[in-house]
Amino acid sequence: MDLALSEEQEAVRRLAEDFVAREVTPHATAWDRAEEVDRGIVKKLGAVGFLGLTIPEEYGGSGGDHLAYCLVTEELGRGDSSVRGIVSVSLGLVAKTIASWGSEEQKRQWLPRLASGEALGCFGLTEPGTGSDAGNLATRAVRDDATGDYVINGTKMFITNGTWADVVLLFARTGDAPGHKGVSAFLVPTDTPGLTRRPVHGKLGLRGQATAELVLEDVRVPAGAMLGPEGKGFTVAMSALAKGRMSVAAGCVGIAQAALDAAVRYAGEREQFGKPIASYQLVQELISDIAVDVDAARLLTWRVADLIDRGQDFATAASKAKLYASEAAVRAANNALQVFGGYGYIDEYPVGKLVRDARVMTLYEGTSQIQKLIIGRALTGISAF
Ligand SMILES: Cc1cc2nc3c(=O)[nH]c(=O)nc-3n(C[C@H](O)[C@H](O)[C@H](O)COP(=O)(O)OP(=O)(O)OC[C@H]3O[C@@H](n4cnc5c(N)ncnc54)[C@H](O)[C@@H]3O)c2cc1C
Repeated sequence: MDLALSEEQEAVRRLAEDFVAREVTPHATAWDRAEEVDRGIVKKLGAVGFLGLTIPEEYGGSGGDHLAYCLVTEELGRGDSSVRGIVSVSLGLVAKTIASWGSEEQKRQWLPRLASGEALGCFGLTEPGTGSDAGNLATRAVRDDATGDYVINGTKMFITNGTWADVVLLFARTGDAPGHKGVSAFLVPTDTPGLTRRPVHGKLGLRGQATAELVLEDVRVPAGAMLGPEGKGFTVAMSALAKGRMSVAAGCVGIAQAALDAAVRYAGEREQFGKPIASYQLVQELISDIAVDVDAARLLTWRVADLIDRGQDFATAASKAKLYASEAAVRAANNALQVFGGYGYIDEYPVGKLVRDARVMTLYEGTSQIQKLIIGRALTGISAF
């Protein structure tokens, strides 16, 4: 076992660190306060190759392995989770899923544009009535026998990149089979008539991110918009989310690392009782707890990347990494806030934002409870769903 990064992986990590220091960190607080990341970041992410990682070069991607992808998402998460989410969704959930499941035509239509940042993707699974129980979604796509088109009606909730995206990977019911069996996946351009996007405001964290509700009223798409076989949409969604959980975990490692960096720096500078607070053992305990969480979360996450790159089963390992790293990010950010004392509570310092941004990580792409059910099912062979 070799945990050292290759020269190429270290170069990608450094590129991401420099990119974040130049293009993200200086703006993160302002974007959070304005509730909007500067949209120009998408083109910049595309130009540096971060929206095409692991996508084959023949489709405009920048190649690279899944560890390189983890390194980039960790650095982005260290700078601003709102920006990290843009990549995790457009590349991780949409482009990579098209690369795995798409027809040649779908790959040629979407991948070069998604990889360059000319187009952005979003992932439409959750609905107002179904979150954890995603297989019971109500959005319906009915085939028009005269034309072969599908006509889609329904509502999608909490869609990351929703108001910015050019294409939504949308999950809808195409048959009468109950639960997840009747679900199919579609690639729907967001300028299709009948599709309305409403921004979701007032989020606790990820405030700069464009989250939206999507309403579909008689949205007509050609048969060629279906991604993967009819009735296999839930399998498509779960395969996307299994890999997606690795990039959420990597983003959480980034949050925890940012919390550690901030806590160490502040504890060395801040003096109370005539000494730096770092000299007090109870403050060192807070810092060492964060440091152990960073290492443990990173190792669990890198293992997923290694399994994927070696073609091994990775879904349970991804759930373990996502569960641990998301809970660790919440703990780490909270511990860092404690080190900052009252100054941690105001947004002049970065740790309050880390707490708010970390909080959603235990909720989306499967809550912590759902990850435990997935891990339990893998161990016992008994499904709770
Ligand atoms: C900021 C943000 C961005 C998001 N982005 C996207 C996106 O891009 N695309 C998308 O499709 N979705 C997105 N989501 C939706 C997200 O994935 C869901 O919120 C999540 O899956 C949980 O669903 P829910 O909110 O309906 O909660 P519910 O499913 O209603 O769960 C409520 C509580 O019940 C618990 N629970 C539910 N079922 C069980 C069970 N069987 N056993 C034990 N406990 C259970 C849950 O763990 C949770 O604690 C996003 C959400 C947020 C907040």
